[in-house]
Formats: sequence, C-alpha cells, structure tokens
Amino acid sequence: MSPEEMRTCARRVVELLVEREETLRDGPPWDGEFQQGLAEQFHKAPPEEGRNAAEVIEQAAREILPFAARLDHPRFFGFVPVSPTWPSVLADFMSAAWTVNQCTWLTASGPSQIELTVIDWIRQWLGCPDGAGGLFVSGASDAAVHALVAAREAAGAPAGPTVYMSDQTHSSIARAALTVGVRPEHVRSLPSDSEYRLDLALLARRVAADRAAGLAPIAVCANAGTASTGTVDPLAELADYCAAEGIWLHVDAAYGGFAAVTEIGRRKLAGIGRADSISIDAHKWFFQPYEAGCLLVKDVQTLERPFTLRHDVIQDTIWGSNHPNVADRGVQLSRAARSLKLWMSVQTFGMAAFRRSILRGFELARHAEEQVRSNPMLELLHPASLSIVCFRVNPGGLDEDALETLNKNVLAKVFWDGHSFISSTTLRRTFALRLCIVNRATTSTDVSETLDQVVRFGRDWVQDYERGKVRASEASASSP
Ligand SMILES: *Cc1c(COP(=O)(O)O)cnc(C)c1O
Repeated sequence: MSPEEMRTCARRVVELLVEREETLRDGPPWDGEFQQGLAEQFHKAPPEEGRNAAEVIEQAAREILPFAARLDHPRFFGFVPVSPTWPSVLADFMSAAWTVNQCTWLTASGPSQIELTVIDWIRQWLGCPDGAGGLFVSGASDAAVHALVAAREAAGAPAGPTVYMSDQTHSSIARAALTVGVRPEHVRSLPSDSEYRLDLALLARRVAADRAAGLAPIAVCANAGTASTGTVDPLAELADYCAAEGIWLHVDAAYGGFAAVTEIGRRKLAGIGRADSISIDAHKWFFQPYEAGCLLVKDVQTLERPFTLRHDVIQDTIWGSNHPNVADRGVQLSRAARSLKLWMSVQTFGMAAFRRSILRGFELARHAEEQVRSNPMLELLHPASLSIVCFRVNPGGLDEDALETLNKNVLAKVFWDGHSFISSTTLRRTFALRLCIVNRATTSTDVSETLDQVVRFGRDWVQDYERGKVRASEASASSP
C-alpha cells in the first residue's frame, strides 16, 4: 500500500469508530443474524484478485461487525461486559502495526518492561507480596490453566490430584482442572453456604476424606466475585486454611479483581493478596479490549519452573536473570503486547479516573438494588454485590413454575425490544434476572429505564396470564 492509501484507510476506520461511539447509546445493545443468511453472504472462496481497500473496510463495518453484541453499550448489562477506552484500543492497533512479539527480552525489551511494570501495578492493587509476578494471557480461563499447572507442579505432580471449588465457581475452573489432568470425578464442586460462599467446614471435611482415600488435593479455587452474584468467598480464612494444609490457593478474580483499586473493593476482597495465584481480567472491569487476562503468582518461579524449556532456535534470546523472557512463564511463545493498552490508558486518564469509573459500578448496582426493593412488582434475589444485582418479577400469588415462565418471557421481551440487554442466572434452582454494571458511560437513568421496562413487560404478561385463566385457549396461544 502506498503511504497515502494507508493514511486514507486508517482515517476512514477512525471516522467509523468515532461515529459508532457517538451513536452507540441511541441504537440497540445487540444485533445478530441467523447462520444461513450470513453463510450465503460470506462463505465464499478467498478472491484471487483483491479489491478496493475502502470497500472492504466499509463492508466489515456495515455487514459484519454490527452483527454482534455491543458489549460496550451503556445499557448492556448481560454476562460480564466491557467498555474499552479509546487509548487502549489505539494501543492494540499500535502494537499490532509495530509487529511486537512479546515473547523475549531480545524481541521486545520495551514492551517486556511495560508488562513487568503493569503486572507490578496489579500486584500492588491486589496487595500481593514483593516478588509476586506473572504475565498477561488471553483471559481468566487461560490464566486458570497456567495456575493449576503451577499448583500441580508445586505439589510434586502427585497421582490422584483433586481440586476444590464451590458450586458457584465459573466453569472455566473445572475446565482448567481437566486440562491439567485432574479426572472429572476428582473435580470437587462443593455446595455453597447460604450466602453462596465456599463453605470452609465442608471443604475441610472433603479434603480430609480425600486424603484418607489416598487422593492428593492440589488446589482450592476461590472466587473474588462470582459471575452469577458477585459473591466473594472468605478469602482470608481460605488463605489460613490452605497455608495450614499446604494446599495451593487460586483466586478467580476475573470479574471482581479490579474492584481492589477502590477502598470499598479492597475491603470486600480482603485477603486476596495471600493467594498463591490470582486470575484477573482487564477486559471486564478495567475497560480494556479483549484479550487482557492476567495471571499473578506469589512466586514467579512456580511458573518458570514448569514452563521454561530451551529451544535451540531461540537460544540467542537469553539475556540473564534481570531480563525475563515472559514466554518462559506460560504456554504461548509468539505473544501480542497485551499490557501496553492498560499502560497507555492509565497514563492517559490517571488512576483517579479509573477509580471513579469502578466506583460507579458499585453505586449503580446499589441504585438498582434500591429500585428493586422499592417496587412491589420486583423481588430481590441477591443484593448488590460488587456490581451485580439479581432479581425477578414477582407480583405475588404465582407458583414457582408460573414465575419462571413469567421471567423467561420478560427476558425474551427485553431482548427483542432492543433497548437494554440483560441476562439471567439460576440461584438454587430459581430463575433470576441479573444486571452486571461495569460500563463507564452507564447512567442511573439507564439502570432505571431498564428496570422500568422489566416491570412493564412483567405487568403485560401477568395481564395476559390472568385473562388466560378465564380463557385457557388464549393463554396457551400467547405462551412463548
Ligand atoms: C469471565 C470470567 C471467567 C472466564 O474468563 P475469560 O476471560 O472469559 O477466559 C472466569 N471467571 C469469572 C468469574 C468470570 O467472570
């Protein structure tokens, strides 16, 4: 491409992106298409001759990228969304174009230093000891695999390894356990206590029973913000227990970890810094584009021992102990410079701005909780925890089956209406609607409007249902 063409294309991309940002909240938080139509349009052989670059950009921007969840939309409250900052997006663009391979000090000394520095920021935010370190990975799923390799090796790679977690733990943890060689029947998912926390007494009994049966506990996996309810396990007590028992403590802080940059978050996550390993996703509550997962371990050697292998073909890249090759800490050799986005966005806005944006998640979740509590049509199923609230429509007088049908119907109505995006979870077999509020542009009006709409759709359903009680045929015809 000629320099002029490069500039023209890039300017067009910037225009499209800024226009998207400016109009994002006016459109729906989701769009999508069934496979058949998309396949007809795109499932074609690659062209032998290229075409105009501007036309290709335009097609990607109009016909491909919009057919996706708009996870950065201020009324996207489903799953765990993210709203990346502009400097962090530019950082990904820059490091891609700079062709950084962030595997060794020789290939990328500048970006390696930034990765060490940013990891050290995160270490301090989480209150981990000096000497703790880690690396950027794709996400918390990937981080958990690395953590459990470290745990397994630290335990001496015993036969019959077992791993412990609560029934609220993200499925990626069980998947990581299976990946590192724990048998499915040795992945212990323990019933959580009345507050959805890992039950320490139950854990202790299970570990003792497993040891008596000749099995080898290698890790306890605790939550610092479950995806369902935002619950934090008793981290300090678990750290005591694991230290006494000599078992590795991994903390899944994928969603909740960055709350630790605020005073309130630090209190809620007290004890997290004592973990042997922590996974945390900057592509959730720290406003970074995918993929910005991060793994911290108390002792970097626990990663470097299992993962450092000598390759003849890169033997020239060994610079010595103060020049770590980050690739020696994980499975990935060629790596993007993932930490640059975090560094650039923090440099641009400062920590005070990040702290304010994270605090807003707490405040808006409390605001949502209050609105749920004060509306007789709504039932609070789990109070605001970090920035997640669970609730359902419950006008009273309906049995559990009807309530589930009602709430699934409301969820579908909200989805197809396209004003807001919410998702659901299951709390002790109860179908729950759920808001996760981590967007830097969300206002209290966005939250109120979403809850108002839930109530409105709930009322409509109840009216139809009551009419259906009089005329049964109409009720079945209008059921989803
Ligand atoms: C998102 C999430 C994960 C998985 O992280 P990825 O970055 O998607 O791999 C694990 N645990 C929790 C609590 C999460 O919210």
